[in-house]
Amino acid sequence: MVDVQRDFCPGGALAIKDGDRVVPKLNRVIRAFLMASLPVFFVRDWHPRNHMSFKDQGGIWPPHCVKGTPGAEFHPRLKVPLGAVVISKGTEARSEAYSGFQGTDLEKRLKKAGVREIFLGGLATDYCVKETSLDALDAGLKVNVLEDCIKGVNLRADDSELALQKIVTKGARLATSSDAVRLVTHAVKTPSSRSKRPRL
Ligand SMILES: [Zn+2]
Repeated sequence: MVDVQRDFCPGGALAIKDGDRVVPKLNRVIRAFLMASLPVFFVRDWHPRNHMSFKDQGGIWPPHCVKGTPGAEFHPRLKVPLGAVVISKGTEARSEAYSGFQGTDLEKRLKKAGVREIFLGGLATDYCVKETSLDALDAGLKVNVLEDCIKGVNLRADDSELALQKIVTKGARLATSSDAVRLVTHAVKTPSSRSKRPRL
């Protein structure tokens, strides 16, 4: 789950059109993964007040997701389970981190949990979803981008489309939340099939 935070949703400081629409579908995926005892990781933007990406610091974005502020909270309807693994990125004033892997221990945690394949959704398609997906591929993971669970900023109209093209060219697959739910639900019913690579 990438950056499903108030500031990226309508009414937020860096609102993405329809950003909150990803929430119900992501919740279905979260629920299915929990039922199957599969790990879910929540990545969040978590900036200091003087983060270099902010306009008043010479960056391109309005101040957003300042750590500890309401705007940095997960969307109130996102079902973040108690004790969920939360990965904070962009925590250093002087470095940008669109990817959940950048400057975090996400890769280590995924490996420790035995994760070889991920299903990824959230905000925004053309920045943090894109960069997180690319880094996940670089880390050797099989990556499925949940295309009905992402929304883009689209500074240029086709940014999201180009981002998805790039991710797919590098080896990711596009899937839907229903695909993900079906797959992990099936995996629970037939534990012996878990060792095989699930197919979409
Ligand atoms: Zn940010």
